[in-house]
Amino acid sequence: MKATEELLLRDDNAILAGPRPSVDRDQLMLHLREALRLLHVDMEDENLIDTPRRWADSLITMTSGYDFTDVKKLTTVFKQACSAADASCQNLVVIGGTYKTLCAHHILPFFGQFIIGYIPEKQIIGASKIPRIVEVHMRRLQSQEHLAHDVADTIQKILEPQGIAVWMGGLHMCMVMRGVEQESSFMETNVLRGNFLSDERTRQEFMSIVNRKGSR
Ligand SMILES: [Zn+2]
Repeated sequence: MKATEELLLRDDNAILAGPRPSVDRDQLMLHLREALRLLHVDMEDENLIDTPRRWADSLITMTSGYDFTDVKKLTTVFKQACSAADASCQNLVVIGGTYKTLCAHHILPFFGQFIIGYIPEKQIIGASKIPRIVEVHMRRLQSQEHLAHDVADTIQKILEPQGIAVWMGGLHMCMVMRGVEQESSFMETNVLRGNFLSDERTRQEFMSIVNRKGSR
């Protein structure tokens, strides 16, 4: 079990860190260089000589979540069975962390905090695996709404819990740096499913944790 876990984590890291074989890095660099040239940026400037390569590599890394389509395959191994008679199987499990990603509309960063809660049905998952699921999804282009829904979908697929709640708060650079230039462009997204929708008490329990721990 231990060995399998280490092996999978290494594979996961490699997938997340390395460029996809299908991305033509040279072509990407060429086009990014051309984009800078069209913006009349002085490409002879010593600060910019290597910029198309750096830009290409960072874009490849920040979209590497697309390499990884079968999240279920990776995380299945970490599941632990728990029975309905077991009190810990009825309790709300809450895991929080941070994320950073790129918005699909402007390819500018947005980032913030997530708080995820679920009520187990028959399975629980190692606490560190939820942030890994978020990590795979955040390395794609998206909206905050999509990110929260995609994370909820993946956890749903893996654990089939009684209920799942995903709260995300985010600061959007596309709102801070351009257009309206709103300094306080903080957005909140809440995805509630299963007994977080049907049971008022469960929902309130989760929302009180969000109100305590979710930074705004
Ligand atoms: Zn945007």
